[in-house]
Amino acid sequence: MQYLPIFVQLTGQPVLIVGGGSVALRKANTLLSAGAKLSVVAPEFAAEFITWQQQGKAELINSYFVPALLDNKLLVIAATNSDTVNAAVFKAATARNMLVNTVDDQAKCGFIFPAIIDRSPILIAISSFGTAPVLARRLREKLEALLPQHLGPLATLVGSFRNKVKAKISSFAGRRQFWEGVFNSDVVRKVQANQLDAAKQHLEQLLTAPQKHSGEVYIVGAGPGDPELLTLKALQLMQQADVVVYDNLVSAEVLTLVRRDAEQICVGKKAGAHSVTQQDTNQLLIDLALAGKKVCRLKGGDPFIFGRGGEEIQALVPHNIAFQVVPGITAAAGCAAYAGIPLTHRDHAQSVQFVTGHCQHDGSEPNWFSMSNTNQTLVIYMGLMKAAYVQQQLIKAGRSAETPVAIIENGTRREQRIVTGKLYNLAELVMQHQISSPALLVIGDVVSLQQDLHWFGLRPQAAVFSQNLTQMA
Ligand code: SAH
Repeated sequence: MQYLPIFVQLTGQPVLIVGGGSVALRKANTLLSAGAKLSVVAPEFAAEFITWQQQGKAELINSYFVPALLDNKLLVIAATNSDTVNAAVFKAATARNMLVNTVDDQAKCGFIFPAIIDRSPILIAISSFGTAPVLARRLREKLEALLPQHLGPLATLVGSFRNKVKAKISSFAGRRQFWEGVFNSDVVRKVQANQLDAAKQHLEQLLTAPQKHSGEVYIVGAGPGDPELLTLKALQLMQQADVVVYDNLVSAEVLTLVRRDAEQICVGKKAGAHSVTQQDTNQLLIDLALAGKKVCRLKGGDPFIFGRGGEEIQALVPHNIAFQVVPGITAAAGCAAYAGIPLTHRDHAQSVQFVTGHCQHDGSEPNWFSMSNTNQTLVIYMGLMKAAYVQQQLIKAGRSAETPVAIIENGTRREQRIVTGKLYNLAELVMQHQISSPALLVIGDVVSLQQDLHWFGLRPQAAVFSQNLTQMA
């Protein structure tokens, strides 16, 4: 071990920075966040230093470095752009047995600044000791993504209970078992849901009357397919769950990110061919949660946009099953972005309407007239089978037959395919290009921008206008 990682209590401790430019600023920022008492010496200073001096956060010494400035300092940082000055600082500091850091010159470092992941009071420091800084940075990014933000408040909460637990449970093994139970309990979910008082009460209860571990359901939006469009929270809960209940829309790439030993249950749904009824899915979630499992209900796109997430949590509520909902990137947002179609644009569309092409149970019709406005973009979910009907009804309601349309198949995925045309041949396009599910219909003038704004995957296939225009009426 070339360096020993230690965490230094710097609050109120005198630290000298030599240098007043941007490099010195970066270090000064880190040191201030640790509460250090900063002195900065330089012939000139970046503007932020002047502000800090006015706010009483730093003392500025307008001169060149002299060794006497090291008197009574705990640490020193050489951050000038002159190797000669940095070397002089290093020499003077080591002569006094002081710890010195010379920015970007590891040979002149008695200590180094690691990359940090701050979930205070949890703090993680990473360093490759100058050998592979890019690798260390990538590692930091990975850990940042993996470690939930609620770790900090959770650690603070359990920290405030440490003495109480010690007083109540005398054996070390007993205490360890208690804490294992806490981390598997609803306390974590409550902190995660930002219900700190409830979490505290629950922890109190666990201490007075230990309870059976209870299950919960995470209703998680998995986005339209590209796994990199998952939210950090979705990924964390996919990693935390005992069971993952998913439907057909969830892409194979996304499923590979589920915890390896979690059970996976498919409740695939396709329009017209329900393999598992919604009621059965609701019951499955209830049964699993009541059996004490952490269930990740993984849904394509966003759970609250044509995702029946609302119905599923309505089924959980009467059973007092804890749940949380994680939004996902809905197909409209994902497909539009990856197709280069801004859903609104100051010159073309002031509003956007998301519509389902799937019939209501009671046979009620969508309000076609409300979709006839030229300045409005329409995004039709589940509209593939109904393309001919959508086309007919929109034109009947007064939307111009010349309105540009796009059909986006497998949006955001490697196989993404886009076909563009005009409203009067929408249905023909679906047939001609043998579009398959999942596919989204986007209707409106904004589609014309796609020609210039396309960036992802295959170039769009423009329509072959074979249609007889008499069909327009
Ligand atoms: N909750 C989902 C929508 C479920 S409805 C969401 O927020 O996205 C299912 C419909 O979504 C499909 O019929 C299709 O119209 C659309 N869809 C979902 N993912 C898609 C994708 N990757 N590409 C194109 N359309 C998609």
